[in-house]
Amino acid sequence: DHRVTGTAQVVVIGGGQAGLAAGYCLRRAGLDFVILDAQAQPGGAWSHGWDSLRLFSPARHSLLPGWPMPPYPGPGYPTAGHVVEYLAAYEKRYALPIRRAETVTAVSHDGTRFAVSTDTGKWSAEAVVSATGTWWRPFLPLMPGGFTGRRLHTVDYRGPEEFAGQDVVVVGGGNSGAQIAADLAGVANLTWVTRRPPRYLPDHIDGKALFDVATRRRQALETGQADTAGVAGLGDIVAVPSVREARDAGLLRRREMFARLDSDGPVWTDGTRRHADAVIWCTGFRPSLGHLAPLRLRTTRGRIPTEGTRAVAEPRLHLLGYGDWTGPASATIIGVGMTARAAVDDLEAGGGRRAIL
Ligand code: FAD
Repeated sequence: DHRVTGTAQVVVIGGGQAGLAAGYCLRRAGLDFVILDAQAQPGGAWSHGWDSLRLFSPARHSLLPGWPMPPYPGPGYPTAGHVVEYLAAYEKRYALPIRRAETVTAVSHDGTRFAVSTDTGKWSAEAVVSATGTWWRPFLPLMPGGFTGRRLHTVDYRGPEEFAGQDVVVVGGGNSGAQIAADLAGVANLTWVTRRPPRYLPDHIDGKALFDVATRRRQALETGQADTAGVAGLGDIVAVPSVREARDAGLLRRREMFARLDSDGPVWTDGTRRHADAVIWCTGFRPSLGHLAPLRLRTTRGRIPTEGTRAVAEPRLHLLGYGDWTGPASATIIGVGMTARAAVDDLEAGGGRRAIL
């Protein structure tokens, strides 16, 4: 399809929180841009999580640039639905130019401009900000054996009801694994399997504290001080109330990783086995970057080498969200604003080539 749908100085790919933060900064910079989002509705990945999913910090610590998240009216931390409402209101408030249900299939560069192909047409742009998240590329490790039960990933999990009374194995020692295990504990016959013993963050550490730790680490590295190890040095699991309660009630006992999955369920190296009706893999995500393949950028473990948010080999391409490799806490609501601002500043300043004027 060689139809040109439009031209823009900047095309932002993805209209989740990262794409919106980029839009806010581009608008402030007075640049001409469009945001293309594959989904028909706002909210990015937040409209897909499990029913009991909540933020791991209060609303006041979950803010995009310009306008903080309104307080959550209920008890506890905000629900995913509250975040979706916030993102929907945010894009309206700033009248961000979002084209929905338009999936970017390929991005190429002819030496002068980017061509951004979508399932409905083509865009021509001086610069591209890719903010497509990770939710769309669930990662499942290869596991020998011929398991015949249900095999799910975090993205497939809705709630504990359908697993009532079943033998369920949850794999993964990160936040999703711990939260889904806590959700199922007491409803299903749960086996929680992690590669190493679960490392809970101290109970008082929430998303805001994590952002502060990530920021301090960046400052330390920038000023030549010793690496503080950042968030990874603290632990893996934020002790949100549901996890804390299940853990303290002794319901989150963990087993080491099994060696294989037979037709009936997991088998450990010492020969012990368990029946499983379902195995839920909470084994994380990879950056969703397939649309950038035509640029032929070198990738390392699924990541594109960056300096800040800018792709080293393609200086008019910026990556936002995804993980700490695009900036400290770039894959969090509170952190993405800072990296979005840095990306837009870099585009304005020329970022290795001429400035966008
Ligand atoms: P997404 O929300 O995934 O948005 C990307 C958008 O791009 C989507 O709308 C998608 O449809 C679109 N897209 C993808 N591919 C294409 C394409 N080819 N063309 C066009 N559009 C495309 N962060 C916090 O700050 N606090 C928390 O409490 C927290 N909890 C989390 C819990 C879970 C289970 C997970 C997985 C993450 C959590 N995060 C949390 C991290 C992060 O805030 C979320 O992952 C967030 O959704 C990332 O936003 P994003 O905009 O980068 O990506």
